[in-house]
Amino acid sequence: MPFKRWLYPRNWKAIATRIKTAAGWCCEQCGHPHDPAGYYGLAVHHIDGNCANNADENLVALCQRCHLALHARKLVGQLMFEFSWPIWWRKRQPPAERD
Ligand SMILES: [Zn+2]
Ligand SMILES: [Zn+2]
Repeated sequence: MPFKRWLYPRNWKAIATRIKTAAGWCCEQCGHPHDPAGYYGLAVHHIDGNCANNADENLVALCQRCHLALHARKLVGQLMFEFSWPIWWRKRQPPAERD
């Protein structure tokens, strides 16, 4: 999606750093460590697509490759999105829906 700077809060950088730190500076999809030189730079993705929703459960740390793939897949549709990204998706379901 286009980068909508005005929707991001002033402390976005701090929020993004917090999410990446919580993920251990590894992609939550493929597990690759943060490596901008190798095109695995981590990005923080908004799961619901709303850049103003910066709740922890709406944010996920993804490497450049997974992030681009995710956005490409989202064009195909929500169904494929849910089937293709179960690892961190499941991790963020409410506790009652786990297991
Ligand atoms: Zn990745
Ligand atoms: Zn994204």
